Amino acid sequence: MESGATRDVVILGSGPAGLTAAIYTARGELRPLVLEGEPSSTSDQPGGQLMLTTEVENFPGFTHGVLGPELMVSMRAQAERFGAEILTERAAKVDLSVSPIALWIGDPQAPEPTLTTKALIVATGARSLMLGVPNEARLLGYGVSTCATCDGFFFRGKQIVVVGGGDSALEEALFLTKFGDMVTVIHRRKELRASKIMQDRAFTNDKITFRWDSVVVDIKGAERVSGVCVRDLNTGEESDIAADGVFVAIGHAPTTELFAGQLEIDEAGYLVTHEGTKTNVSGVFACGDVQDHVYRQAVTAAGSGCMAAIDAERHLSSLAEN
Ligand code: NAP
Repeated sequence: MESGATRDVVILGSGPAGLTAAIYTARGELRPLVLEGEPSSTSDQPGGQLMLTTEVENFPGFTHGVLGPELMVSMRAQAERFGAEILTERAAKVDLSVSPIALWIGDPQAPEPTLTTKALIVATGARSLMLGVPNEARLLGYGVSTCATCDGFFFRGKQIVVVGGGDSALEEALFLTKFGDMVTVIHRRKELRASKIMQDRAFTNDKITFRWDSVVVDIKGAERVSGVCVRDLNTGEESDIAADGVFVAIGHAPTTELFAGQLEIDEAGYLVTHEGTKTNVSGVFACGDVQDHVYRQAVTAAGSGCMAAIDAERHLSSLAEN
């Protein structure tokens, strides 16, 4: 990494939003630095959520679909082709009250920031929500998972439970039918939130059954998952379902810890943007799932990454003029 001089643009996150911002700012000769975080099962996901998915059929330009990880590898190579620098490190601290913006990598207590930048594009995305029931954290990685693509293989010929009623839950359930004997989707309502096409696929797959109006109240198992305890919300009755795997697919929470007290955050935890991708701090822009609780699609994330790049370029031009 080039050190010393203040960067024009630093981008936090390497999902579709961050990498699209990188492609645009790199082509604008701003030599963006992308900090993509460090891989971890519980926090950072370089490449974003598409790294945890399989077939993406609704990203324009791919007649027959594209694998999520393949799409992200292409976006990354495209950004690098134009000169974007990508570091697999996490930002430990930011100080948005100073100009240029200060950023620490590694030790957040270090007296001097690791680097400074005139513009910051926040594309830190969102991460999986968990149920918060007993034993869930203990059994994470021992039968509890948030990623069928990563872990489905381990459940060949097994009984699997998927929790949730959105597109993610059905996508996980459909993918898991390749491995498991039976997949039970547990949903807290009688109606799915998922898109019609995903519902049709799930309803016609004879390996998938549904447990409606039900919530998981406990996950069972000493060393590995052996089942879940489910409460029927109509009757209040609790019963056990035997399972070797529990896939939690109940949505995501935006990754904003780094900006607490510095950027405006709404009640649901998303960064607030206005006039495109501007935040409440001049020179700081936000794009993708960290600021979007409405659309949350790969293509909308990419679109807002493009907007953030253009907004950042305009900001830099206005700095140069003054
Ligand atoms: P989502 O649409 O927010 O759905 C979350 C689901 O989990 C909902 O059914 C919700 O129930 C349930 N839920 C939430 N909290 C729960 C809790 N504590 N206990 C039990 N159930 C809980 O999230 P998502 O499925 O991750 O999808 C996010 C976005 O990505 C959506 O826009 C989706 O269309 C998109 N996506 C698209 C694809 C695709 O096109 N192939 C694939 C994946 C995701 P309620 O319904 O009762 O609220």
